[in-house]
Amino acid sequence: MDFRLGEASDALRERFRPFLEEHMTRELEERLYRTGVNHDDGFTRALVEEGWMAPGWPVELGGQGLDPIEMLTVSEELSRADAPTYGIGTTLMVATVIRAVGTEAQQAAVIPRALAGEIIIVLGFTEPEAGSDVAAATTRAVRDGDEWVIDGQKMFTTNAQIGDYVFLLTRTNPDVPKHKGLTMFLVPMDQPGVEVQAVYTLSGERTNISYYNDVRVSDEWRIGGVDEGWATMTVALQAEHGAGFAASIARLLAATEAWAVEATDEEGRRRLDDPEVREALGRTAIDLEVSRLLQRRVAWMAETGLPLATEGPMSKLFSSEAIKERAQEMVELVGPDALRSYFDPTAPSHGMIEHLLRYSVGTTIYAGTSEIHRNMIAQRGLGLPRTR
Ligand SMILES: Cc1cc2nc3c(=O)[nH]c(=O)nc-3n(C[C@H](O)[C@H](O)[C@H](O)COP(=O)(O)OP(=O)(O)OC[C@H]3O[C@@H](n4cnc5c(N)ncnc54)[C@H](O)[C@@H]3O)c2cc1C
Repeated sequence: MDFRLGEASDALRERFRPFLEEHMTRELEERLYRTGVNHDDGFTRALVEEGWMAPGWPVELGGQGLDPIEMLTVSEELSRADAPTYGIGTTLMVATVIRAVGTEAQQAAVIPRALAGEIIIVLGFTEPEAGSDVAAATTRAVRDGDEWVIDGQKMFTTNAQIGDYVFLLTRTNPDVPKHKGLTMFLVPMDQPGVEVQAVYTLSGERTNISYYNDVRVSDEWRIGGVDEGWATMTVALQAEHGAGFAASIARLLAATEAWAVEATDEEGRRRLDDPEVREALGRTAIDLEVSRLLQRRVAWMAETGLPLATEGPMSKLFSSEAIKERAQEMVELVGPDALRSYFDPTAPSHGMIEHLLRYSVGTTIYAGTSEIHRNMIAQRGLGLPRTR
């Protein structure tokens, strides 16, 4: 059994790294951490200009036609560099949904602009009372001739402050079981009645609450059938559940190793020679390897056309819990200095341990919480009955 990604992927990695070295500058990294906004127009433009915007898309649509394993190589490199890809990721996810279920007119209006980095599409799924149980959404859409009138509130609408469109989950029929009365829309963010309010998370990310008061949207912007929003959502959620955080664990390991080489104890001994430090680094290296393999298994299954059931949730769950646990362990190991931030010049390893400690908390929440992923594995993988 060969767990390497192969020569084509190695060559691709070599081709992509100079791009990241050139464009993922220290100045950009600092701006991303300072603002908490995981998007940068200049970086996106550079990706588009050099053909890296949507390498997994077919060549005729502006991609490079890369297969899932090659795509994994590109996303491993982007994550390793902590590049600003959240806005690009949500935009391309919605473009993928529109490609699958949208009308020809919608495809023509959205896909070329999405792949050219000209628009940002954000996700309006979560509500104050409907997060994990997203199908319980209550944001109402009521038909009025050729238009729909939307009223409601969404929570955690990340990048809404810079978004051009929100991919909005609405309730169009309250009188049927919850999954059967949902409809999706692509709503322009500059439409009267759309308001955005900033929310800053513990992880340092800027996200938002977004409000919709009598927002009018043409029926042309309905994505998928009326009351068939759950089927449309399923296409989107499948993409979300395949995430993994191996690259963040790699960053944590590198940051702690660098500290262990530099730092000494009261007797002047290198911390790297302390068995406790070596054990912690060893545990992190194992979690990194398992996370990487789980993520690679998802890509390999996608490439070979095998049906994915629990492999995506396993990858997301394991790697997010691992980065959270290991970051906490590293802080205990390093001591109070570990809590010096990126912006403190005396922070060990450029403050990366503190950054990853806070970042890790969000990873176990967005794209489905750990409990929800465990439920999915129990139900789909082990055939256990539903809990609720
Ligand atoms: C940084 C960040 C960015 C985000 N970006 C977006 C975005 O762009 N767009 C968007 O729509 N959403 C976004 N989200 C929202 C995210 O998807 C939700 O936070 C997540 O789905 C959980 O929903 P909730 O916060 O309402 O928690 P709840 O669903 O209220 O869960 C609360 C707790 O109960 C547990 N729980 C809930 N149901 C069950 C169950 N059936 N069994 C066992 N335990 C359960 C959960 O695991 C959790 O621990 C973002 C969240 C964060 C933190």
